[in-house]
Amino acid sequence: MSSLSATRLNPLGRHSLWGFHALLVACCIFVVDTVTHLDAAIAVLYVAVLLMVAKGSSTKALLWAAALCAGLTLAAFLIGHGHFAGNFDGRWARCLISLAAIAIATLLALRGKRATEALLGAQAQLAHATRVTTLGELAASIAHEVNQPLAAIANNSSAGLRWLDRPEPELDEARESLQRIAQDAHRASEVVARIRAMARKGAPARQRLCLDPLINETLALIAGELTRYRVRACVQLQANEARVEIDPVQVRQVLINLLINACQAMAEIAPRERELCLNSSVLGQWVCVTVCDCGSGIAPAALPLLFTPFFTTREDGMGMGLSICRSIIEAQGGRIWASNRPEGGACLTFWLPLANAGSPA
Ligand code: ADP
Repeated sequence: MSSLSATRLNPLGRHSLWGFHALLVACCIFVVDTVTHLDAAIAVLYVAVLLMVAKGSSTKALLWAAALCAGLTLAAFLIGHGHFAGNFDGRWARCLISLAAIAIATLLALRGKRATEALLGAQAQLAHATRVTTLGELAASIAHEVNQPLAAIANNSSAGLRWLDRPEPELDEARESLQRIAQDAHRASEVVARIRAMARKGAPARQRLCLDPLINETLALIAGELTRYRVRACVQLQANEARVEIDPVQVRQVLINLLINACQAMAEIAPRERELCLNSSVLGQWVCVTVCDCGSGIAPAALPLLFTPFFTTREDGMGMGLSICRSIIEAQGGRIWASNRPEGGACLTFWLPLANAGSPA
């Protein structure tokens, strides 16, 4: 067998090789123990045989090896001494010491094996738990992100039906509702595709673009939600021609999450006071976007936990929105944080790096 093929032995082959070597060593010990008449407990060396067997074999094999070693010790004793009867001389003591050593070594090896098995079991459980957590987070992300377009589809279909059910059906309005449904359905499928790509660690689909048009487009997408929450939007976009290199689908998701959170945060205040401010600007090497509301703000204790998966203070919340926002923004080289406004309400801000003017588009 070449050395290359020897290194490629399968585990079964390796175990039988160890077993063969252990048997060879046991035979040598037996011969030395029987033939020589030294005042030493040679059979204690069977401990080495047991350690060799314990290394890769099963518990059953270890017990068989222990029985074989004990048997060989007794056989060597009988051959050297002739019989079991007679005075308890030095040979007896050495035989008993050897048997005790074999028993102790077997017990210790069995305990070691059990500990290793428990460790392997715990590792397998941990790996399983990690997979389940990852799958759970992925499922929660999909559920969270797809929920908004689905709710929009439901609202637009009710609106469409109402237009058609009028004594004189408003076909243009119904057509617009259908167009919005198609847009939302397309957005839901884009979101699922992006989340799947993220889970597969696929490269994000980056484009070099101006952020302000993307913000306007997002506002148009959730215009229905703003009306439903009776929220006025005060928009000041000043990033102008500044370009960022981002995945537009993902950044749109961030904007939608922040805008819907702002609407929900203002649900408790009078409709006429519900105003959200959406600003964009350029600051050094960054394009900055801020979404501010005049809700109750964020409790100081909640501030450090806000972006942690599954953190929520809302009864029907999933606590995934801001965690997804942070993953997306950080994956595009940006940062995101939350603060409270002195006059009341919360501000969620994210910065994205300006696209490097020197690099190709
Ligand atoms: P969810 O909306 O499902 O609770 P999020 O991750 O979007 O999950 O938000 C986590 C928590 O952050 C919310 O439960 C809420 O307590 C807080 N939060 C987010 N946005 C705002 C906001 N604009 N004003 C006040 N609290 C907010």
